[in-house]
Amino acid sequence: MISHSSSPPGTTVDLSLTEAERDKILAHAAKFDPPGVTTADGRRDLVGMSREELAVEMAAIGEAPFRVKQLWHWIYHQGVIDFARMSTIARPLQEKLAERFIIGRPEAARVQTSEDATRKFLFRFRDGQEAETVYIPDLDEDRGAVCISSQVGCTLSCRFCHTGTQTLVRNLAAPEIVGQFMAARDSYGEWPSPKGETPRLLSTIVLMGMGEPLYNYANVAKAMKIVMDNEGIGLSRRRITLSTSGVVPMMDRCGSELGLCLAVSLHAVRDDLRDELIPLNRKYPIAELLAACRRYPGASNARRITFEYVMLKGVNDSEADARELVRLIAGMPAKVNLIPFNPWPGTKFARSSRLAIDRFSRIVNDAGYASPVRRPRGQDILAACGQLRTDGMRTRAGAA
Ligand code: SAH
Ligand code: SF4
Repeated sequence: MISHSSSPPGTTVDLSLTEAERDKILAHAAKFDPPGVTTADGRRDLVGMSREELAVEMAAIGEAPFRVKQLWHWIYHQGVIDFARMSTIARPLQEKLAERFIIGRPEAARVQTSEDATRKFLFRFRDGQEAETVYIPDLDEDRGAVCISSQVGCTLSCRFCHTGTQTLVRNLAAPEIVGQFMAARDSYGEWPSPKGETPRLLSTIVLMGMGEPLYNYANVAKAMKIVMDNEGIGLSRRRITLSTSGVVPMMDRCGSELGLCLAVSLHAVRDDLRDELIPLNRKYPIAELLAACRRYPGASNARRITFEYVMLKGVNDSEADARELVRLIAGMPAKVNLIPFNPWPGTKFARSSRLAIDRFSRIVNDAGYASPVRRPRGQDILAACGQLRTDGMRTRAGAA
């Protein structure tokens, strides 16, 4: 057993166990892997391929390695979807590429814009499965967050979450994850990708849509590496936040390999209640989850861990809960996002009163932690946190 100096006294972490657990999670996730990237007419989608994979494709058709850089620029910096618009590539090669490849986008099966300008996309993928993506513009400045889905449905069944009432259909592939962001940018015409500190309308990514991103780690990681690549979309890792319900063994990997900002759905300060609300807590209880947060690579005052806390009336919103929360996160670089519960058809829960939320927020704030109350956005189109759901159907034997 290895004792972590940053863990609270008394907690030890058996890293070999974590490693085995991580392998198990990755192997299980692969069973829900998406179909391949080939279209019905046999062409392959270049979106979502890593640079190495692109290099293999170019070599296979006898093209030089420098083509990778060119294609990357056109696909991810310029945002073109038509080889004929790649002006630095001669016509014969444009045609050769178009015969073999496509630059794909998920099909926007439905686009709804809320009265508060939040826009929800229902994206349909090549096998007919669907997932939702939400763009939440900042109300005061020209910037905004794109909330991306990582799975169709979710294996976890958190009691307060609409997605959780839908079983997991499958993981989304890297092209489908990157594609959500690219298609959302198409919708606002935000191409070419703004460079450096140039303001962006679609300025941050939050992996907070449908699904548990750490149960689809391989595809999420591949997609985020593409999004962060400086010669393309070039979004800084500081502008990407991954939200997890607490898949402890995958948290270290996410921090060390991707360096994304971490948000953790805490929602309860006692194991008996958290077991009820988030059944995954029975596997990774609060003490283990918080120990993983304490050792999260790169966490600092400049990069605080966000604890999400959904405010459920009479369930987790007392003053005692707030005080216990403060005790649990003591000494951690953290902030607490209070999310007023967003109702959905058939839910048993209700949103805490404004008074209860303010009281809770004040206790956390007085203890030195920022505790903003998240303003519900896009509720009229069921686009707010926890309201996403599609009528996905299980189609693959492996997903049974
Ligand atoms: N699966 C990941 C990310 C998606 S959910 C996770 O659970 O963290 C994004 C956030 O919305 C999570 O904090 C989730 O707990 C919260 N949420 C789910 N249902 C909600 C609801 N009905 N109202 C408010 N927040 C909700
Ligand atoms: Fe899945 Fe997150 Fe919803 Fe829980 S809250 S069911 S982990 S999407």
